Amino acid sequence: SSPPPPPHVAMLATPGMGHLIPLAELAKRLASRHGVTTTLVTFASTASATQRAFLSSLPPAISSLSLPPVDLSDLPRGAAIETLMSEECLRLVPALTSLLLDLKKTTRLVAFVADLFGADSLDAAAAAGVERRYIFFPTNLHVLTLILSLPELDATVAGEFRDLAEPLRLPGCVGIPGEDILMPLQDKTNPAYRWMVHHGQKYREAPEAILVNSFDAVEPGPAKILRQPAPGRPVVYPIGPLIQGGKEEDASSPCPCVEWLDRQPEKSVIFVSFGSGGALPAEQMRELALGLELSGQRFLWVVRSPSDEGTVNENYYDAQSKKDPFAYLPEGFIERTKDVGLVVPSWAPQIKVLAHRATGGFLTHCGWNSVLESLVYGVPMVAWPLFAEQRQNAVMLSEGIGAAIRVPESKGREKIAATVRELMEGEGKGAAVRAKVAELQKAATEGLKEGGAAAAALAEVVDKWTVGEKC
Ligand code: UDP
Repeated sequence: SSPPPPPHVAMLATPGMGHLIPLAELAKRLASRHGVTTTLVTFASTASATQRAFLSSLPPAISSLSLPPVDLSDLPRGAAIETLMSEECLRLVPALTSLLLDLKKTTRLVAFVADLFGADSLDAAAAAGVERRYIFFPTNLHVLTLILSLPELDATVAGEFRDLAEPLRLPGCVGIPGEDILMPLQDKTNPAYRWMVHHGQKYREAPEAILVNSFDAVEPGPAKILRQPAPGRPVVYPIGPLIQGGKEEDASSPCPCVEWLDRQPEKSVIFVSFGSGGALPAEQMRELALGLELSGQRFLWVVRSPSDEGTVNENYYDAQSKKDPFAYLPEGFIERTKDVGLVVPSWAPQIKVLAHRATGGFLTHCGWNSVLESLVYGVPMVAWPLFAEQRQNAVMLSEGIGAAIRVPESKGREKIAATVRELMEGEGKGAAVRAKVAELQKAATEGLKEGGAAAAALAEVVDKWTVGEKC
């Protein structure tokens, strides 16, 4: 008789390349290390060209399916990203249930994994009779601790977090000043806040375990606590850093960024990028340009058309900028900096850039994928957080572990220049950050090797999928 088909996992990716990329990496790891195949399930609302190209570049062990479009026109204009994703996910439960039932007919479906805003989709998996259900949390243990604490914080913290007199101290975590706490928690009257409390409750009850894209060395405090089983929440497995591989990208097409980097000295360039959807308000974009120029450092900057605060949705759902971003740069900037800087519109092959020997720093919005990629390639960071959990990440990286220097809140050109210079060549804080990042790079790489902490954590999860399986 023929051998049984490989174990198969369905994974739900909520909108945003920042969610899809790490899930796809998890799927690749499951295929290469454990012989498990995957179907990545995506939302119709995110069927962008960037996403389609990404999905079609994945190895054959990973297929993809799109859920049907959902009408969200009844939601108020300007609804938060978290609200849109959570609503869309909830409304897709019936469609997802039938998709999973169909998948059971053609594959040996052993588990279902949903990402951070997909907690409600675990109900679809339960209805379809998929017994092992997980949350994959693409950000870190600090944020997870906060979300797991939300039902309790909601009942005990009166008023807004930003009005707290002291930083919020959660078990094992770096204290987070109220104004730096997760963006969707900053206005309790906004439905996004309610959704996050709801997800916190679901995280506690619904999954068998929570897989987190982080590693112990970068946040030892919460790792120690969450790795231990505790009543009222699932076990947590740090399985990261899972980052995008650079090799799959078409090596034959010349890349202007890499060609330019090839001509720059070792560790001399600061890479400046704000993730897949981040953009600065026009005034800050200008100060950043002038700050980079003033710093005297070489730079490679991915520019996007400016966005006013809170209007990131459009970029986030489709990474291509709609307007010409160069039109917003200060007069003469490109010409004046042409010997030291390269400015590219919308998108750069970030992994190739971070892996390049000429890259010596990363001015980042602190999206968690960017942070992990920076650590894996040993690139120290300047933290310039924008939205989501990025301010929290900036606190943890700069005041906690010491892998970044944060740009002062005023965001003036002099301060930007001084921060960039300190990171690249400073003997005080800069030197300490560069040394810490080298240490974290080592820990990140060791953990993923056979027998390392992250590899062992994932193996422990996967072993359960085939043991005692009813044939
Ligand atoms: N990315 C990239 N090129 C860009 C911008 C982003 O390759 O110009 C990739 C980046 O390497 C990372 C992801 O997109 O893997 C962004 O994820 P992150 O969590 O940093 O930020 P988000 O996009 O979720 O804000």
